Amino acid sequence: MARRIIYWFRNDLRLRDNQALHSASEAASEIIPVYVFDPRQFEKTKLGFRRTGALRAKFLIESVTELRNRIREKGGDLLIRVGDPETIVAQLAEDYAAEYVYTSKEIAPEETRIESSLSKNLKTFNIDIRLFWMDTMINAADLPFPISKLPSGFASFNEQVRKDLNIKGSFPEPDTITLPSEFDAGSMPSLPALGIDPNEIQAAGPAGYLSGGEKAALELLESYLERKLSYETGEPLTDTRLSDWLSLGCISAPYIYNAIANGQSDSKTEDPIITNLLKREFLHWTLLRYGPRMFKPSGIKHHFFRRWSNDQAAFEKWTNAQTDDQQVNAIINKLNKTGFITASEREIAGDFLVNNLDVNWTWGAMYFESHLIDYEASVNWGRWNKIAEVGED
Ligand SMILES: Cc1cc2nc3c(=O)[nH]c(=O)nc-3n(C[C@H](O)[C@H](O)[C@H](O)COP(=O)(O)OP(=O)(O)OC[C@H]3O[C@@H](n4cnc5c(N)ncnc54)[C@H](O)[C@@H]3O)c2cc1C
Repeated sequence: MARRIIYWFRNDLRLRDNQALHSASEAASEIIPVYVFDPRQFEKTKLGFRRTGALRAKFLIESVTELRNRIREKGGDLLIRVGDPETIVAQLAEDYAAEYVYTSKEIAPEETRIESSLSKNLKTFNIDIRLFWMDTMINAADLPFPISKLPSGFASFNEQVRKDLNIKGSFPEPDTITLPSEFDAGSMPSLPALGIDPNEIQAAGPAGYLSGGEKAALELLESYLERKLSYETGEPLTDTRLSDWLSLGCISAPYIYNAIANGQSDSKTEDPIITNLLKREFLHWTLLRYGPRMFKPSGIKHHFFRRWSNDQAAFEKWTNAQTDDQQVNAIINKLNKTGFITASEREIAGDFLVNNLDVNWTWGAMYFESHLIDYEASVNWGRWNKIAEVGED
């Protein structure tokens, strides 16, 4: 057994069904959990808005605070730092004489670059890193095709994976988390410490729903399952809003899938959330397959001949909800105020930007990245690829 492991939390801000944390707690007598707020995530883009907008940042702070509380209940603590994780986590591992760093494996190019840098930095201290693939519901080995032959559309993916669907099981949360006796916990940054003016939220109005964190996610799922059971007509419910919590890993996709699938054995119609979770799954594997292509104007399909207008004034009409289409304006206003719009509202607003204003679709995707609380790289950029007709169905 190792003496000490640093557990670096990323987009897996939960104790329940966290394979990497479970493995760390089995493998070491002391765990030092850490979360690093990365200032690069809060910088302004070339278009003038932040990569992570105020509402999304607030939800993140709430989720990390709740994680810290949960870890404290288990006898440990969550170390909080602000800076570049690839430097900070390596230095912590050296300072605390850890033998390993355990963490989750990410798919998006920027996150994977950070992992490789961390891995290199750790090597200079003779410390190993273990990365756990946790963000999909199916293990790669259980897919009926190699990722290089991933079906090009969701319909075909869905048909093939459903023939022998093998969703991951759950991992229990650790009973206790034991820290070394001497440690510097660090304090939770406020919005201003991340360069964000809190008035941005007050000016926009309250987000109007539960706060971030694992507890709220589990309660939301529980209440959905209860409502579903008591729904008299037997028609499926949808729009759980679980996506906000899923995006930060406050709850895991297989956990939701299993809870819903187990509860619907005698139901005639399948809960649409099952299909939605498989759509998310498909886009995760799509990002793994195509990587940086997903973020370029030419998209997954390499449509180099399609030209987009970089008309900042037209784009700002859209972001300021001042287009000549009242429905689109109402949707963007809702996004700016609450950080959430439904899937069909996302499509309507996206379609208007692309087909009526002819504006570079990657700008729209960047705007959604900043403002959607549920932002996930693969799903957001994948859906925008589709709207711009440079990606898969
Ligand atoms: C342009 C555009 C951008 C989008 N960006 C994101 C994003 O950044 N993050 C995100 O989670 N979803 C995104 N979606 C998908 C979808 O709009 C949201 O997942 C959904 O509105 C969330 O609501 P819910 O949690 O109530 O979904 P539910 O109906 O409860 O579905 C359960 C889960 O399935 C996933 N899901 C639902 N619909 C889809 C879909 N169409 N494609 C892939 N996965 C889906 C979500 O993780 C969701 O939480 C985007 C869609 C479009 C058209």
